[in-house]
Amino acid sequence: MDRVVHVIGGGLAGSEAALAAAREGVMVRLHEMRPRKMTPAHRTGKLAELVCSTSLGAEGETSAKGLLQAEMREAKSVVMAAADAARVPAGGALAVDREEFSERITKAVEEHPLIEVVREEVTEIPEKGPVVLATGPLTSDPLTEALKRRFGDHFLAFYDAAAPVVLFESIDMEKCFFAGRYDQSPDYINCPMTEEEYRRFYEILTRARRHTPHEWEKLEFFEGCIPIEELGRRGYQTPLFGPLKPVGIFDPRTKERPFAVVQLRREDKAGRMWSLVGFQTGLKWGDQKELVRSIPGLEKAEIVRYGVMHRNTYLNAPRLLRATLQFKEEPRLFAAGVLAGVEGYLESAATGWLAGKNAARLAQGGEVVVPPEASMLGGLVRFLAEANPENFQPMNANWGLVPAWPEKIPKKERRRRMFARGLSAFREWLRTEGFALTAA
Ligand SMILES: Cc1cc2nc3c(=O)[nH]c(=O)nc-3n(C[C@H](O)[C@H](O)[C@H](O)COP(=O)(O)OP(=O)(O)OC[C@H]3O[C@@H](n4cnc5c(N)ncnc54)[C@H](O)[C@@H]3O)c2cc1C
Repeated sequence: MDRVVHVIGGGLAGSEAALAAAREGVMVRLHEMRPRKMTPAHRTGKLAELVCSTSLGAEGETSAKGLLQAEMREAKSVVMAAADAARVPAGGALAVDREEFSERITKAVEEHPLIEVVREEVTEIPEKGPVVLATGPLTSDPLTEALKRRFGDHFLAFYDAAAPVVLFESIDMEKCFFAGRYDQSPDYINCPMTEEEYRRFYEILTRARRHTPHEWEKLEFFEGCIPIEELGRRGYQTPLFGPLKPVGIFDPRTKERPFAVVQLRREDKAGRMWSLVGFQTGLKWGDQKELVRSIPGLEKAEIVRYGVMHRNTYLNAPRLLRATLQFKEEPRLFAAGVLAGVEGYLESAATGWLAGKNAARLAQGGEVVVPPEASMLGGLVRFLAEANPENFQPMNANWGLVPAWPEKIPKKERRRRMFARGLSAFREWLRTEGFALTAA
């Protein structure tokens, strides 16, 4: 195996991957096309530029992002070190000074003696050695074409048309029931609605506000993938012939067909996360929450991923990747960041860290690894490998990714314990794996 690790893309994932690998003592060539060629969202030539908000998520011991932040601090992540140094006050969130944050990361990467930063666009996947693909949601067109040729274009998505995902434990199963349409297997959770409930839902749907996309993000939708708000705009009856249609579904308690039904489909193997079928949406998050919570049985639903409709390039991870972030068919290739099917700055950096460590291991003839199941990073990469490949959508850190707490205790306390469990498992794992965890 060629001992040079190639990292393609110097964003959040690629910068983290390059340093994670170099700190293990391997040579790294990091290829970044900016500033020579820009993406539609980036403005500078700096590495790890934040393209939109400056927040790396909620902090604290009841926050899923907080657990991932804590794990990444343990792993000596460059993104977390820069975030902590460039932090600005932002209530309960980890927010940073945009310029200082990416300057610090650029400096750390460029000054590392084992990293060579090459400012060029990569148009073909390097044929030798371990390669980490981390070109993000705005991967350039020639490389996108190369990925299509290599893996088949049906394994690559070009936009998110995602529906909200809720935690199973927050669904009121006294009001909902498991069933399939007609005689299909009872794989769906059904939320039945009376006419009065539907009218209220429709009223909220039609007054809800849409998120305004950037000009270059505006999408033409296929008929099979129309946002729920657009169906609402077409008329009172339209959703009843679409995702809310009740045909073939009978409420086992009343033995009757409800006026309307919202169905939820399992997102993960363990059934901890469920997405609302046909509810892809570009509604503002506050309005989305009100809409979801107007559905009987979802009044207290905890949304772990909001629906989005925007331009995004990502792989169908469960079809292509292992939890080590290697491609199943070509294990010298790794994916990280949004391209690998995660969402968010922090999640991108964390998967970059793991891909970098594993690529270095491969270069050194060592074993590739997966973090423990109870840790947020372990949960995230397992999700990528094991999620339902039909309608796969990128995922962010959330409590549905790790095993539920076994006892019924108040939510805050449960989260605190899940946080402590995850962090201690991750720490122990780092220790036994013996990674180089200095900033050298
Ligand atoms: C418009 C937009 C807004 C977003 N807002 C947020 C937000 O507010 N909060 C949040 O948490 N997440 C947000 N995200 C999602 C995601 O977290 C970020 O996009 C994040 O930067 C992803 O990290 P990444 O490393 O996967 O990709 P990036 O950070 O985009 O890095 C990819 C890098 O690869 C380079 N590149 C692309 N193609 C090539 C090529 N062929 N050769 C060489 N280099 C190449 C790019 O120039 C870029 O530097 C947003 C995404 C988009 C598109």
